Amino acid sequence: MSEPIVIAIDGPSASGKSTNAKIIAAALGYAYVDTGAMYRTLAWHALQQSVDVNDAAAVAALCSDWPAKLVNREGSIWLEVDGVFPEAEIRTEETSAAVSHVAAVPFVRDWMKERQRSCVQFGNLVMEGRDIGSNIFPETPHKFYMDAAAAVRQARRDADGVSDNLAVRDQRDSTRAASPLKVAEGATIINNAGETPEETSARIMGLVEERLN
Ligand code: C5P
Repeated sequence: MSEPIVIAIDGPSASGKSTNAKIIAAALGYAYVDTGAMYRTLAWHALQQSVDVNDAAAVAALCSDWPAKLVNREGSIWLEVDGVFPEAEIRTEETSAAVSHVAAVPFVRDWMKERQRSCVQFGNLVMEGRDIGSNIFPETPHKFYMDAAAAVRQARRDADGVSDNLAVRDQRDSTRAASPLKVAEGATIINNAGETPEETSARIMGLVEERLN
């Protein structure tokens, strides 16, 4: 049997990764993996347990005992604990402010890498995040880095009615020592300003198809 195909979509916050990744996954019948949701779920868990997210050793200890499991829910892969996926809770302002601290802990990144690589058990994947092309699946030929100007991205998030300081999060994500946000070697940079998500995702699928043939 041939290896599952992995389409890696990285980029800063509100660059359009989720919208495009979902369209592409649905169009191709691939499983959709939102790795940001995985880090958010751990950040939410830390807040629930009153663990200081700035205390890397405490976050690592919490993560090592965390009985979270990967679950395929109608083609989307999530981390669940005791059958619960805190879908709304992981998008709150409090979780958004905590997540990049948790995501900078090397133990957490290794833990996530193991789970994220094991997602191929669900078949072909569209996986979005910050380090998918650079660190999780560096071997995939299908690497994309989505970008848009900071003001455009912040306006998108504000329009969603979500309070989230993207500049602070992006700064932390791109300057951390452990697998920072960066353009992976061999990635195609996709600037989607002025394009509809349908146009952008069609462009990405066209490039994937070219490489598959
Ligand atoms: O994609 P989203 O904005 O939901 O990601 C939330 C946070 O999770 C990011 O700001 C980053 O700190 C972390 N993250 C990461 N690596 C990934 C995906 C997300 O560090 N692959």
